[in-house]
Amino acid sequence: MKIGFIGLGNMGAPMAANLAIAGYEVVGFDVTDVTVEGVTSCSDAPSCVSGRDLVITMLPNGSILQKVADEIQQSLKKGAVFLDCSTVDVDTAKSVAAQMAATDIDMLDAPVSGGISGAAAGTLTFMVGGTSKAFTIAEPLFTVMGNKAVHVGAAGAGQAVKICNNMILGVTMIATCESIALGDKLGLDRQKLFDVLSTSSGASWTVNSYFPAPGVGPASPADNDYKPGFAAELMVKDLGLSQQAAEAVNADTPMGAHALALYQKFVGTEDGEGRDFSAMLPRFSARKRST
Ligand code: NAD
Repeated sequence: MKIGFIGLGNMGAPMAANLAIAGYEVVGFDVTDVTVEGVTSCSDAPSCVSGRDLVITMLPNGSILQKVADEIQQSLKKGAVFLDCSTVDVDTAKSVAAQMAATDIDMLDAPVSGGISGAAAGTLTFMVGGTSKAFTIAEPLFTVMGNKAVHVGAAGAGQAVKICNNMILGVTMIATCESIALGDKLGLDRQKLFDVLSTSSGASWTVNSYFPAPGVGPASPADNDYKPGFAAELMVKDLGLSQQAAEAVNADTPMGAHALALYQKFVGTEDGEGRDFSAMLPRFSARKRST
């Protein structure tokens, strides 16, 4: 299978490299001048997709995905699979899939969970929307770039699952951080708090696998001065997408909306930019009730 890969950034570069290591013939394109070992560089997006059986995109957002889709559509081989792994809004995922279907291109929306370390290690989880036929064709690649792929429904369903997951993640991280900061002020020992929470009804992924306090729980960005990890601005992006989707389908999501407002403030005016999303803990620790 010949693969074209567009968007060789923090996530795309290691994903493309892993495909090349696995023996696939991979060509790649990025608007910035990047080279990835084992991946042949192309000078533009159309030449990157021409004659390829499967094309992967890993781009910053929906408007860039739309722009790239417009650029490549006429150069894509009929019957090719277009696998978008970016995190974008549900509406763009659906409309680009419909646009591609008009020229016999089968598109999958397959956003990932697992971050930069998961991309490098080939341990990403893919949540995939689109046809079963295209999913079956792409499945061997999911096995190389990740260790789990779930076909969650029709076009757009992958992005929908991603934002539902990350809305829980954003809300529970804030709940975890404010609980630890409260515990500190009540004089609790953080290790003892962790021991109880992680085996009680307060357990969650943010408590058990990503406890946001240094030196407590499994290793996490808290142990590395809150260097991302998963940057707070990416959480702003994903919570924004969940609110955009909730607006579109008239769903009531007050906790998601409040989490978005807190993360926007954190990134915009509270020195949160460039820090891991778990750096909400020192933010809460430094605050008093009225501020
Ligand atoms: P990134 O900014 O490092 O990479 C995006 C790349 O796309 C850049 O190299 C950029 O130059 C390139 N690009 C932009 N416009 C282009 C165009 N028109 N044509 C070709 N290339 C173009 O971002 P990333 O961290 O690799 O994230 C990529 C996607 O994965 C995003 O949608 C993000 O939300 C999602 N994601 C990221 C993480 C993470 O931890 N970084 C985790 C899960 C999902």
